[in-house]
Amino acid sequence: MARCSKCKTEAESLYWLDSMRSSLCQSCLIEHYEKKVKRTIIKYRMLSDVKNLGVAVSGGKDSMALVRSLLNIFPSLNFTVIHLNLGIPEYSDACQALVQKFCQENSIECITYDLKKVEGYSIGDFATSKLGRRICGICGVVKRYLINKVALENGLDAVATGHNLDDTVELLFNQYMSGALGDLVRNKPVLPSTHPKIVKKIKPLVEVTEQENLYYVLSTHTGYVDRECPLVKGSRMLKRKKLLLRIEEEIPNFKYLLFKSHVKRFLPILEKHFEAPAIRECERCGMPSMNSVCSYCKLVSKLRLSSPVSFSSH
Ligand code: SF4
Ligand SMILES: [Zn+2]
Ligand SMILES: [Zn+2]
Repeated sequence: MARCSKCKTEAESLYWLDSMRSSLCQSCLIEHYEKKVKRTIIKYRMLSDVKNLGVAVSGGKDSMALVRSLLNIFPSLNFTVIHLNLGIPEYSDACQALVQKFCQENSIECITYDLKKVEGYSIGDFATSKLGRRICGICGVVKRYLINKVALENGLDAVATGHNLDDTVELLFNQYMSGALGDLVRNKPVLPSTHPKIVKKIKPLVEVTEQENLYYVLSTHTGYVDRECPLVKGSRMLKRKKLLLRIEEEIPNFKYLLFKSHVKRFLPILEKHFEAPAIRECERCGMPSMNSVCSYCKLVSKLRLSSPVSFSSH
């Protein structure tokens, strides 16, 4: 039997953590994970001034790890789960059932927003339209827009999301490569509210890896949807994540080091010199936008033109 690197107890199965280059038993893994998440929340003052927190939960391992760790670390914290049913065939309904069951079992208020029922279209409709080649980018715009809208309409003053270190570094890699300064400035652990209709966003898992999230849900027996979204196949984002894992094999802790340099060294300089674009209100939906029509409204009108979907009048 092998020994846990931390408590030295013999255990039948251990979790090998790439980030620590060591193996932990179940209870040390849980302790290590929750300490790390708590430290991140405190370090970036994520919950300061937050009275009504929303937690965006898709049902995947990352957001389930987020909601479970918040329950364990802050047992008296009241929060509301926001779940978007994106209408992805053979996927979204299973996600919704899992999230609702978890919330019921843990007495958490859950707001479910069914895209097809409320808006009359789904991400599945985008996927089968002419716009389908960029599906994850489209889905990202829709999710960001709706999470903010739902939070705003329900009086929530911050939303926590399950973005992990791998997601963040994959984005950083892409943004530095393409010189997307505006996006780089917004790639940070806390996005404050910069407009009365923009709800603050926090990323409590920004310093934990996908692997740590997986081991945490397994070791806390937290259910999650154990399959990938069927639309992700062949996405460039997945290819970049695989490449970053290979770099990490050669340069230990590469992902965390890149993230830390960005937040500590580059971000303060970028923020000083990069003037944030003025925010106005979209002339169609009234939500915050950098242009006269917001990205969400532009996408939806493109879908109307390119597919036979019948939209609700809403
Ligand atoms: S994999 Fe892409 S399409 Fe599927 S839920 Fe994620 S962002 Fe949306
Ligand atoms: Zn141990
Ligand atoms: Zn709009």
